[in-house]
Amino acid sequence: MLEASHRYFHRAADLLDLDPQLRLILLTPNRVMKVELAFEGADGKIIRHTGFRVQHNNRRGPYKGGLRFHPAMDEEHATALANLMTWKTAVVGVPFGGAKGGIDCDPKTMDPIDVNTMTRLFVGQLKEVIGPMIDVPAPDMNTDGSVMAWIMDEYSKYHGFSPAVVTGKPLHLFGSEGREEATGRGVAHLVVAALAEDGRKPDGIKVAIQGFGNVGTFAALTLSALGAKIVAVGDYFGGVARPDGLDVAALVEWTREHRTVKGFAEAEEIEPSAVLTADCDVLIPAAIEDVLTEENAAEVRATLIVEAANAPTTPEADEILLKRGVKIIPDILANAGGVTVSYFEWAQNIQQYRWDLERVRLELEKTMHRAYAEVRAMARQHRTDMRTAAFALGIQRVGRAAVSRAQIRRAIAL
Ligand code: GLU
Repeated sequence: MLEASHRYFHRAADLLDLDPQLRLILLTPNRVMKVELAFEGADGKIIRHTGFRVQHNNRRGPYKGGLRFHPAMDEEHATALANLMTWKTAVVGVPFGGAKGGIDCDPKTMDPIDVNTMTRLFVGQLKEVIGPMIDVPAPDMNTDGSVMAWIMDEYSKYHGFSPAVVTGKPLHLFGSEGREEATGRGVAHLVVAALAEDGRKPDGIKVAIQGFGNVGTFAALTLSALGAKIVAVGDYFGGVARPDGLDVAALVEWTREHRTVKGFAEAEEIEPSAVLTADCDVLIPAAIEDVLTEENAAEVRATLIVEAANAPTTPEADEILLKRGVKIIPDILANAGGVTVSYFEWAQNIQQYRWDLERVRLELEKTMHRAYAEVRAMARQHRTDMRTAAFALGIQRVGRAAVSRAQIRRAIAL
């Protein structure tokens, strides 16, 4: 995954004819932290995990990025994902850098009391290197508003009342209207923007969604409200399909209760992997990395892929899909709605002021459409694909800030 993000970086850096030294500066994380978290669990047994936080780049503002609680979390994952955050915040133009972190655990199998203890120990280790103007964590896989609330609480014990140290907090605890739905809505705005370019509307468009967590759910709800037909949805346990469109509200209800789409009665049952190759116009991978590979890329039937997940497409699959003329809206643009509303939350916290849902939604929509247009313009200018263009835009913005701040006198064209 780290290798893939580096490949995409160099493809764009070549396009910009970027100085080799500057490439190194922009690729190397500024600070990498690895901490031991050991404590006695609620059942008296010793629990031991490792926590990570990679602060990749802060030339455009405080480090920003989620915390992922997942058994596969390690330094390489955190580094690759932190790298993506740096370009993501630059592409949507929010005043942050990039970071990522997490703990190598499976919170679903843990006692919530232990998840709380572990989170607080993690904050204890990081309390001097995170902060509203230093590094602002957020939710990611298997972390939610409750985890963010514990982080805010623990950090505030040392530094005083600090809601802006973390985003994605519950609404009643200095969170923002519209944060939970933000990534999924952002995905839907980009589908609308991409279709509009070809003179099309979402009405009647067939959409397949792989992954039905927070992002997949809100993308489905928003797109079906716009008239799109959600024809296939899959998660880790199963898949469901309905050629004339699933009843999304009923499916969301079912999933809330059963924790999977599997077993949803008003649909045909399919293999989870079949969602990726379902008959549809738009494919939204919204789960984990590396799901579109050289094995299945040739069978994808969608003409538009919107990467709601981080790094769902391997470079090999990317090449096959581009050759076949499939348009891909890359992760660093496609799922940037989340960090965009995180920025709105942070801004509200700093100002001790609240925005209403209408304002959040409107500003998010404007941000996503503007970013889409800017990436498109870059793609046109360099006659390249959207991923390379998005990386180039991100690299250009971060690179310019890095050069100005460092007062590098030797002219670096950017
Ligand atoms: N974890 C999300 C992402 O990958 C959100 C990050 C944030 O809001 O800071 O973009």
